[in-house]
Amino acid sequence: MTTIEANLQEVRERIARSCQRAGRDAKDVTLLAVSKTFDADAVRQAQAAGQRVFGENYVQEGVEKIRNLQLDGFPTSLEWHCIGPLQSNKSRLVAEHFDWVQSVDRLKIAQRLSEQRPDRMAPLQVCLQVNVDQGANKSGVAPGDLLALAQAVAQLPRIRLRGLMSVPEPVAGFEAQRDVFLQVKALFDDLNARGFALDTLSLGMSDDLDAAVAAGSTMVRVGRAIFGSRPAAA
Ligand SMILES: *Cc1c(COP(=O)(O)O)cnc(C)c1O
Repeated sequence: MTTIEANLQEVRERIARSCQRAGRDAKDVTLLAVSKTFDADAVRQAQAAGQRVFGENYVQEGVEKIRNLQLDGFPTSLEWHCIGPLQSNKSRLVAEHFDWVQSVDRLKIAQRLSEQRPDRMAPLQVCLQVNVDQGANKSGVAPGDLLALAQAVAQLPRIRLRGLMSVPEPVAGFEAQRDVFLQVKALFDDLNARGFALDTLSLGMSDDLDAAVAAGSTMVRVGRAIFGSRPAAA
């Protein structure tokens, strides 16, 4: 068994235990494998171990990986999520290669993505990134601006609004982590009460996925616990 395969198994068991503690069904939490800084071979290994959904932070790197795997005749059933900060000049690459974008935090970028999404592809699946704890130099829409953004994005023709994503500042301790995630869950519930049909709450990474599952996350984004530690600069 490869290290990646063993790690994946461990993460899946961890999610299952968290779900059990929270009285939730493990099938309701999707594992997104964050392959940033790791090469296409790491993706192949994870795929061989049954992983289907992958996330990338850096647009250029992600697109190269997706293209390389496609050239290899790799199964096209993989699902690719862009989870990193979005710049306008990279939006076309994102619109043409990814299945999902989780880091939409302003209308202008959503409009570009909608305009640039090729007709032959399914609508781009989108989560809005919320800066829930208002971290100083972080991306994400402020909670007070979320409703207006959601209303505008939901109108765009080539985009399908699926949910919310957040990356809170790291805090220590299960309860403190869960309390921040619950604030995002409350925003998610509020939007659904207003008639949005959101099904994706993307919360939790290697260090806090247990608290995220307790708060209602439906998708955890896990990098290091699957692929190992990354170089410090990345
Ligand atoms: C890197 C990254 C992750 C994965 O983080 P790990 O700590 O490696 O699990 C998840 N979400 C986002 C937005 C990231 O940038």
